[in-house]
Amino acid sequence: MIKTWSTPVETETTRTIPCILCGGEVFTPHLFYEGFSYVRCTCCRLVQMNPQPEHDAVRRRYQEGYGGDYLAYELANEAAFLRLQELALGDAGVDSNTALSVLDIGCATGALLEKLRDRGWACTGVEISPAAEYARKERGLDVRSLPLEENRFPDTDFDLVLASHVIEHLNDPAAFVAEVHRILKPGGHFIVTTPNIAGFQARLFRGRWRSAIFDHLYLFSVKTLSRLLTGKGFAIERVRTWGGLAAGTAPAPVKRIADRAAKRLGVGDVMLIRGKRLPAKSTLSAAR
Ligand SMILES: [Zn+2]
Repeated sequence: MIKTWSTPVETETTRTIPCILCGGEVFTPHLFYEGFSYVRCTCCRLVQMNPQPEHDAVRRRYQEGYGGDYLAYELANEAAFLRLQELALGDAGVDSNTALSVLDIGCATGALLEKLRDRGWACTGVEISPAAEYARKERGLDVRSLPLEENRFPDTDFDLVLASHVIEHLNDPAAFVAEVHRILKPGGHFIVTTPNIAGFQARLFRGRWRSAIFDHLYLFSVKTLSRLLTGKGFAIERVRTWGGLAAGTAPAPVKRIADRAAKRLGVGDVMLIRGKRLPAKSTLSAAR
C-alpha cells in the first residue's frame, strides 16, 4: 500500500489539546502506524493526532517543502492531480464556464487556478510550500505564501473557496473554517475535499491506510466534517465520496467495480462536501 506523500517522522514537541470539534478531553486509541498514532474523541468521535505537534513545527514542515522535494512531487503528478480536481469540481456542481472569484487554499503549483483564470475567473491562491513561487513565476498567479488567516483577506470577498487536501493538515481546522466563512460572500460556497476515515479503505487498512500519515492531524468522516461546517455557519448542500480501491491494489476490472460501489454507497476513500455560507450568527440575532 503506497502512502500519500508525507514529511518524514521526526521528534517534535507535542501537546494535548481539547477536541477542536466538541471541546471533549477524553480520547480512546484508534489507529497506529510507525512513529505516530491517532485517538478518537469519545464524545464526537473525531479522529485526531492528539497530543499533536505545535503549530510552528507544522508550519515549518510545509515551508521547508515537507522535508523533501515537494515541488518535484507536485510537478511530476500535476496532470493527474489537475484531472482529479476538475472531476471534483464537476462532482461539486461547479460550472467552470461561469466565471466567479475563487480562492484556492493549498493551490500547490496553481494548475487549477491557471485553467480557471483562462476561463475568465478572478483567481487567488494560498500556498505555504515552495510550490507557491512556481505558481507566481511560471504562471503569473496571485498566490500568497502566508497561512490563510494571516493574509487578512477582506470580509465577504470571494464567491467560492476551495480547500483540497488541506484541512486534515491543520492544527485548528475550526478556526480555518470560521475564517473561510468570514471571507466568503453571503450565499458563497466552500468546497472541502479530504480523506474519508469512514470509507472502505480506511476500515480495511486501518493504520496502513494511505491517508494515515504523519502530516494528517485530523481524519474526518462525513459526520464529523459536516458538524464542523454547520457549527461555523454553513449549510451542507452536497456530499460525495469516491475511490473504492487504490491504484495497483487490485486488477483494473475489480477496481472499477469497487470504485463504482464505493461512490454509490458513500464509502469512498476521499470525500467532498459543499457548504453554503449562511449569514453570521450575530447578524441573525441582530435581525430578530
Ligand atoms: Zn470531540
